[in-house]
Amino acid sequence: MKEIYNTLSKLQVVLAKMFKVEDEIKEIPMALADKEAVLQKTKITYLELHEKSEKVKEELKTLRIRLDEAGVKRETCEKMMETITQAREFETLQKEIEEAKNAEQTLRKGLIAKEKFYDELNAKLSIQEEIMAQQTEEVEEETKVKDQLVAEKQAVLDQIIAEKDELAKDFDQNLLFKFERIIRNKGGLGIVPIHGIVCEGCHMTLPAQFVNDVRRSTTMESEGIREEDDIHFCPYCSRVLYYEESAEDQHFDNLFTAEDEDEIEDENAENDDFISSGDFGDLDSI
Ligand SMILES: [Zn+2]
Repeated sequence: MKEIYNTLSKLQVVLAKMFKVEDEIKEIPMALADKEAVLQKTKITYLELHEKSEKVKEELKTLRIRLDEAGVKRETCEKMMETITQAREFETLQKEIEEAKNAEQTLRKGLIAKEKFYDELNAKLSIQEEIMAQQTEEVEEETKVKDQLVAEKQAVLDQIIAEKDELAKDFDQNLLFKFERIIRNKGGLGIVPIHGIVCEGCHMTLPAQFVNDVRRSTTMESEGIREEDDIHFCPYCSRVLYYEESAEDQHFDNLFTAEDEDEIEDENAENDDFISSGDFGDLDSI
């Protein structure tokens, strides 16, 4: 039976390493994800500015056409002025020329303002373009670093998994699965001894009969390591338990296992002290 506990102890170390590397691999892309999110935001801003710029470009085209039209109209009227003879016609033309001039003036003002706006937009656009190029470069660089790190960690992980598979090659899959879960949930400590009648994992006092069973399994002679049925789990913290002699065990020893009445007699005085000192649950019922 001892061999399976040794194997579980070794497996515990390997599994804890495996989970650590697995977590490290999961954390690697985080820095990159942040940079990618920033780049995505920059791209959206760039596209919005670009769309606005295109719209303003169209508006500028329309304004220029209207300005040209107003100019042509004014010139036409001015030419007609040279040929008219009647005062009424003169007044009408004079008015039309005036209107065309006003329109030209308004349009020109609008055009200048819009051109200024267009230039500002394009300046922003080129700044955004620079930022985008820089961020893209950073993301590419970070991706390279990430890929390399992941590859390195993966190689380490593969080695650990091979180690784990070798250790657990004769294990029942259910036991392995359960043990992995315990290691993950209990901070890497999945197999602990019982000292006296206390689980050294959670320090809870265990039922005496249960301790006796664990003790029997622990000391049992065995050929191989396929004794999963004899593996005991702490009813409080779920860790695998094995029995380990400790200083305070001398007091319990005979109570649990000795068949020699005399020995029990000899220990009685000490046992009395011990039992009266505390919290031993089922011990009294033995
Ligand atoms: Zn426990």
